[in-house]
Amino acid sequence: MGLFFNMIFDFIIVGQGIAGSSFAFNLLRKNKSFYIVDKLNTLSSSRVALGVYNPVILKWYTKPWHIQNQLNFFFKFYGEYEQFFKTKIIFDIGVYKYLHTNYDQNNWLTKSLRLSKLLSNNLYSLSKQNLINKKFYGLINSSGRINVSEFLDSFRSFCLEKNLLDQSHFDYEQLKISNKSVKYKNIKASNIIFCEGSSASHNPFFDSLKFTPTKGEILDVKFQNFNFKSIVHSNLLFVPKEDNSYSVGATYDWLDQSNLVTQKAKQKIQFVIKKTINSKFNLINHKCAIRPSTTDRRPFVGTHLNYNNLHILNGLGSRGVLLAPYLSKLLFDKIFYGKSIPEEIDARRF
Ligand SMILES: Cc1cc2nc3c(=O)[nH]c(=O)nc-3n(C[C@H](O)[C@H](O)[C@H](O)COP(=O)(O)OP(=O)(O)OC[C@H]3O[C@@H](n4cnc5c(N)ncnc54)[C@H](O)[C@@H]3O)c2cc1C
Repeated sequence: MGLFFNMIFDFIIVGQGIAGSSFAFNLLRKNKSFYIVDKLNTLSSSRVALGVYNPVILKWYTKPWHIQNQLNFFFKFYGEYEQFFKTKIIFDIGVYKYLHTNYDQNNWLTKSLRLSKLLSNNLYSLSKQNLINKKFYGLINSSGRINVSEFLDSFRSFCLEKNLLDQSHFDYEQLKISNKSVKYKNIKASNIIFCEGSSASHNPFFDSLKFTPTKGEILDVKFQNFNFKSIVHSNLLFVPKEDNSYSVGATYDWLDQSNLVTQKAKQKIQFVIKKTINSKFNLINHKCAIRPSTTDRRPFVGTHLNYNNLHILNGLGSRGVLLAPYLSKLLFDKIFYGKSIPEEIDARRF
């Protein structure tokens, strides 16, 4: 930290999950400076996430908020990230949704007339060995997977190499705020942004925000005789990864807030696996994390009511990989170009 004694950064960023990393990469692209404080947590939501992006809310066949803008910015953002770090992040591999009943199949075909750019208007058969149900899949367009670990790790290494990362816990009591700047330990900046995910409940500056933390669990497995390069959605998501393993999940639990994996979730996921794929599998990992969901299912983006240099980017719920790049852009445009944040996501609504 001594290195930056006389420097004033544009931003201190608290949290290097998908939210903090997306905001930081936006700053980097626009030649703004930042310093990150993040205590590595291998059980953060971003580090456990399946990384799936899907532009349709399948439960109701509706479009998420601002989805076309999200998608447009999404590909530009991760594309630029791939170029900058010379790595592969986006796997545009598609999600095939299994449509079990006649009703499900007809419903998909009817809804695809209205959502024609996003849902296939025909059904597919997947002739994959050991996939138990081979017929009646709908394909979601512009869907796939982000390699979130690679995204976070490559960005973290970059920050460590440039001495832009303090890997300790952020101590709110050490933050000094004045009209024009903020100071944390020896680091001075014009602004600070909080991107702590579900740990934001400890943040004294944004304590009126209403979160509904939602626990999720996944299993990483390796099948002996199953290999499919796209994502299968059959009750749960079967997400293929580069090392031929699959992540399967995720569960939703609104009551249990512990960071411990449960036997109940494990059994549920194993049950779905056995109903979907007829192959033995080895269990590699069982993980859980808490999603930063909100009571009105909208993110929290914006600036503190009393301090115009304190900002927040949080509440990404179960849609972090699609939301974070677009929300980072909206917040950047507000802070540097004076544009307004849409009311429905503005953190000031609480
Ligand atoms: C099982 C599961 C599956 C999921 N699957 C998907 C999916 O397929 N697609 C999708 O889009 N989303 C998915 N999500 C949701 C996604 O993970 C979240 O939307 C997203 O990761 C939230 O990112 P974040 O950066 O806001 O928070 P986090 O990932 O929680 O990151 C916050 C960071 O801040 C750090 N931090 C917090 N407080 C402090 C402090 N005081 N000092 C220092 N550091 C601090 C933490 O250590 C962490 O690194 C899933 C979530 C779960 C749990």
